[in-house]
Amino acid sequence: MFESLADQPPDALLALIGLHRADPRPTKLDLGVGVYRDETGVTPIMAAVREAERILLDTRTTKSYLGPEGDPVFVDLLKPIVFGVDPGPRLLGVQTPGGTGALRLGAELIAAARPGARVLIGTPTWPNHAPIFTAAGLTLVPHRFFDVAGQRLDIDALAAALESAGPGDVVLLHGCCHNPTGGDLDRAAWARVAALVRARGILPFVDLAYQGLGEGLDEDAAGVRALFADLGEGLVAYSCDKNFGLYRDRVGALFGLAATPAAAEVMRSNMIALARVNWSMPPDHGAAIVRTVLESATLTSLWRDELLRMGTRVRAVRAALAAADPRLAFLTTQHGMFSTLPIDPARIAALRADHGVYMAGSGRINVAGLQVGDAPAFVAALAAVGW
Ligand code: PLP
Repeated sequence: MFESLADQPPDALLALIGLHRADPRPTKLDLGVGVYRDETGVTPIMAAVREAERILLDTRTTKSYLGPEGDPVFVDLLKPIVFGVDPGPRLLGVQTPGGTGALRLGAELIAAARPGARVLIGTPTWPNHAPIFTAAGLTLVPHRFFDVAGQRLDIDALAAALESAGPGDVVLLHGCCHNPTGGDLDRAAWARVAALVRARGILPFVDLAYQGLGEGLDEDAAGVRALFADLGEGLVAYSCDKNFGLYRDRVGALFGLAATPAAAEVMRSNMIALARVNWSMPPDHGAAIVRTVLESATLTSLWRDELLRMGTRVRAVRAALAAADPRLAFLTTQHGMFSTLPIDPARIAALRADHGVYMAGSGRINVAGLQVGDAPAFVAALAAVGW
């Protein structure tokens, strides 16, 4: 049966983690990691999450099955955080295994409605986006979203892609904290995208995986809120894995805005049917933690404070890097944990071999892998390899 299978390349970032771990140099720096790290260099369990877990341990009476839609209370409590004002019965949501599950479910929903539909996808993007949409049978139509050499958004390329598309086409957008470039649409760009999406009848599919890790919870959702105000149909793949630090617990949701409340119910029934044949029902523990946090005013405010501190730390590292080398000034105009340096593979390899500085082969750096005090050493290593 399986003789015909070709070996698949290992995940390059996971390999990088292994190399970093094996490096004995005490001065090594890890900018390759894909998760938040705090000022002590660990990916913490948030205090609000710990407290919610304690509450769950004490109060849970069963682990019997939920349904394929997951926990509806969890989904309802997220709605105001994501959308601000609840658009009402045209908006529905189901719980998914992480943002990845939400993206896959959304892609399959699109494929069920429109087999082979075209998805406009800006490059560079999170490396899992294209395989997810392709695996669901959709057709990728790439356009340049970000010019890494010039460190600026190519908003005109995005607009041109939208102008060439029409009803039945989809555009994938990062809601905030673009991975891997940190290049987010500003208010004017979101307005331009929203106008084009509406005029051309394109379905927007927003990937919102880092809400709160950029400029703040409301600020990071401003784009998706502007887009969804006065919109006919749209999808949002949401992840709680980063902003609640729940990575391995796999917490997410797929939201859909339908043309009418009746169409929303049809959309929901299709999401449920697709979930049923993929994972039957999503894992409960992480979503129960999020629900427990959001049901409590005290825990919600604790979580918000912790998240605010995380975002503030990321911005402080960006500012420290820019202060250490003016050529890195662009880092302060970008958002979230990631940026992509215009640096060639030979220098990336030399940084690792000669200086113990680890970053992805694409030049993507996770600024949360650094401490403010690491900025001079990082900049010195860049200079030493001739960047
Ligand atoms: N979308 C983007 C842009 C991401 O960077 C990630 C994770 O790295 C995800 C979605 C998926 O997140 P999750 O871990 O919740 O599946």
